[in-house]
Amino acid sequence: MNILLSIIYLISTITFIVGLKKLGHPETAKSGNLIASVGMGLAIVGTIFINDIEVPIIIYVLIGVAITIGSIMGWLIAMKVEMTKMPELVSLFNGFGGASAALIGVVEFIGNDNISGTKATMVATILSAVAIGSITFSGSLVAWGKLNGSLKSVIKIPQYNIINNLFVIAIISFSAYIVMSGSDSQLFLYGLLGLGIVYGVLFVLPIGGADMPVVISLLNSLTGIAAAITGVLYDNMVMLVGGILVGSAGIILTISMCKAMNRTLGSVIFGSFGATAVAEEGINKSLGTIKKTTSSDAAIMMNYATNVIIVPGYGLAVAQAQHVIHELEELLVSKGVNVKYAIHPVAGRMPGHMNVLLAESNVDYSILSEMDDINPQFANADVVLVVGANDVVNPAAHNDPASPIYGMPILDVEKAKHIVVNKRSMKAGYAGIENELFYNSKTSMLFGDAKEALTELVGELKGM
Ligand code: NDP
Repeated sequence: MNILLSIIYLISTITFIVGLKKLGHPETAKSGNLIASVGMGLAIVGTIFINDIEVPIIIYVLIGVAITIGSIMGWLIAMKVEMTKMPELVSLFNGFGGASAALIGVVEFIGNDNISGTKATMVATILSAVAIGSITFSGSLVAWGKLNGSLKSVIKIPQYNIINNLFVIAIISFSAYIVMSGSDSQLFLYGLLGLGIVYGVLFVLPIGGADMPVVISLLNSLTGIAAAITGVLYDNMVMLVGGILVGSAGIILTISMCKAMNRTLGSVIFGSFGATAVAEEGINKSLGTIKKTTSSDAAIMMNYATNVIIVPGYGLAVAQAQHVIHELEELLVSKGVNVKYAIHPVAGRMPGHMNVLLAESNVDYSILSEMDDINPQFANADVVLVVGANDVVNPAAHNDPASPIYGMPILDVEKAKHIVVNKRSMKAGYAGIENELFYNSKTSMLFGDAKEALTELVGELKGM
């Protein structure tokens, strides 16, 4: 390989590793993203212009056109996307990554005049790109549909578990057959592509409710693996390392998401769980009565509190209330109240969603507490203010073995002396289930959009 290109690839690889490390903290995440992007840009430019292959000019033109169209589209989408739509966008982009790996596999198979004479390991690599890429593509599209609400959360076809397992066996055995037989049949290749696409759909359909974070990070890691496989195909070091980094980071995230949801990876992959109960969109009288409160009563309660814990959830992101919540927190602190934020690992719609949101309004990281650290502190909290969170504070995870979220670790807000819950209605959260916390005698419901309710609360507190 050209020595200059090798040096460029080495620099790019270093930028990926440094970038990934910096992504681990909200303060350094932006610069990490930038550093890795510059490295990726460098690798792309180096690959196109520094090589020993005779490339017709038309190829350069086609690459230039593709990059220009892709960059403009990516730029426009990224500039326009709202924070709450970010997880869907990531899922969609993830799907495109899978699709490109699958297409590379297809091109390598049909473009190779001597596929039957090609080494079995190489054919196996090509077919892996086709299978993993197609599963990731269709699976990510289904996840995208579920996140944007156009698809139902959990869709279980009869015997889905058996069918899904049969698909896995079929994909592996069919790929093995193509490799062993040395076949160059394009029909077989498209058959494998079709099997992968159908399996991707079937694999994600039954998973839903509170388990989506796990499947999303798993698909993310599959995209990395697919990219690494294409790196092997082209003997391209930077593609291989980039893919391995995404794949392994995704697997680590998947494992920590599994831990956060108290699930095993096996039970996620084979889709043996998901939300089943769907809450009524109104008050469930069998759970008791709810107590409504006003912003002035909630303000009085917080004004005289010593310890207040704020629990942010998805609704905070929807309302874009991150700035006003920070204002509320600063106001309380100026009145001598100890304030902390309790961060659940799957609050919101993407890993780290609450951290990113609160970082936007410059909330001091030292007062953000992870679930394990904050849970023992709820008993000492005079007031817990839950803002747009639902599933992550649902006691059914502890109390109801029949609940689809049973066993998932939650924020133990019910241990606090008083709980104020802000949301717009009695509608369920992402998992689609009732929340008995709202009917707890210690809970008062502050109905309304989070931004409006918190602004009123701040106004009341300022007047005290
Ligand atoms: P939930 O989705 O459980 O609940 C959010 C609540 O916010 C809703 O009940 C809604 O009630 C309320 N809400 C919505 N808009 C507003 C608004 N403008 N103002 C005030 N309240 C509002 O969120 P949680 O954060 O508690 O839990 C996250 C859920 O999402 C979990 O089930 C998790 O598994 C899942 N998930 C998480 C992902 C991740 O990576 N973090 C990825 C995919 C799914 P109402 O409509 O009545 O206002």
